[in-house]
Amino acid sequence: MSERTATPLPTTTTQAGAPGGEAAEREARAKQVELSPIHDFAAKLRQPSVIGHLRDYVRWSAAWRKARAEGETLDAALARAPGHAPLSINLDVTTACNYRCDHCVDMDILNTGIRYDHDRLKDSLSEMAARGLKSVIVIGGGEPTVYPGFEDVMRHMKGLGLQLGVVTNGSGMDKILAVADALGPQDWVRLSLDSGTNETFVAMHKPRKKHITLDWICEGIGPVKDKNPAFPIGFSYIIVWKDCEANDAKIVDNVHEIVLAAERAKKARFDYISFKPFLTRAERNNAEIVGLTQEEQRLDPVMAEIRGRIEEAKKLAGDGFRVIESTNLKVLENGTYRNYTDQPRHCHMQYFRQVLSPLGLYNCPVYRHVPQALIGEKHTYATAEATAETQRSTLRLIERFDARDECKEVTCLYNHVNWFVEDLIEHPEKLDALAPGEERHDYFL
Ligand code: SF4
Repeated sequence: MSERTATPLPTTTTQAGAPGGEAAEREARAKQVELSPIHDFAAKLRQPSVIGHLRDYVRWSAAWRKARAEGETLDAALARAPGHAPLSINLDVTTACNYRCDHCVDMDILNTGIRYDHDRLKDSLSEMAARGLKSVIVIGGGEPTVYPGFEDVMRHMKGLGLQLGVVTNGSGMDKILAVADALGPQDWVRLSLDSGTNETFVAMHKPRKKHITLDWICEGIGPVKDKNPAFPIGFSYIIVWKDCEANDAKIVDNVHEIVLAAERAKKARFDYISFKPFLTRAERNNAEIVGLTQEEQRLDPVMAEIRGRIEEAKKLAGDGFRVIESTNLKVLENGTYRNYTDQPRHCHMQYFRQVLSPLGLYNCPVYRHVPQALIGEKHTYATAEATAETQRSTLRLIERFDARDECKEVTCLYNHVNWFVEDLIEHPEKLDALAPGEERHDYFL
């Protein structure tokens, strides 16, 4: 299956222009969900090592808005644009997958046979790293470990000093073992498993090879931990409840295995288990969204069952094992998730975080392979000249892509940071007073 990062949400819900008045703001504040440091993207952009990237973007954007009001064209303004690559990318190394998950949000684009030229992919990563890229989440539209160049590209990226995260379906733990020596405490690996028994695992994921079971995958964790315990390995559990549909079919309910999965994860030496709600695709623009409405969520007794089982699972935390509940789940439960769908006109995160796939370069993990989110083709960062044009294409898309409309159904984890950057652009004088924050050495966006 293809698991996404777009589940946790920011905490602030009181941005300028948000509808609802003071009373609504007070209510929203009272309900707001604690933001974990790894999802505090505004704080990440203020780290001393990357704040220059933020400042350059804000200064250029503020100057462009002023120039536009005076009649300048975007193309003229682009001649003065800063030359940064994104700070962070999601990298789909392949569209090939060895599972047939019933809940896959990328079913349409799997196993297309479209691939990178491996050397040009490495050139692209080198070009980006030279222009400020600091982290890569190797994920997919496919299963990263089936890519024949997986180990080589991982080692290449570590050689460039990049922080790496890998989201895998677990079928290639031998490939993870092969690169384990190259990974450090800032890197991570997360397995999308979503089940507590072999039966449910196989029913949900439909691996093409019979030997792939949940037991078999979990047996692969110990050897990696023995070789290098420095980086965390997570067990990801997307909660699927009755009536969830994907790809025009009902999908397997796994609510009853939440506690079993947590027990299994701890025993198999995972560092944590994380629980997230199921996402589906919006019919209107193919964006990944939570499939149920807020009212349906609140009324549905299944939320009470999920809550009870997660509380039970949390009792297993300790001895270095963590039980993590996605912010998305919390805001669905407390009814604030609509607050995270209110975006500024321009999504600034497109400048700082992009998705590179064999199908092209896209503006956001939510819009993988959606035509209106396309920035360029798959090797669009492979040379210095192409990179300069890609930087201009990114700024053109930020201008063109109306996040207020396109993302109005998305509970966006970047909502808070978008409003933070928007405020700086509208009030560039605040930039002078903006002090660097703490250096966390965490560049995942
Ligand atoms: S505003 Fe839209 S495009 Fe931007 S990060 Fe959120 S979901 Fe993605």
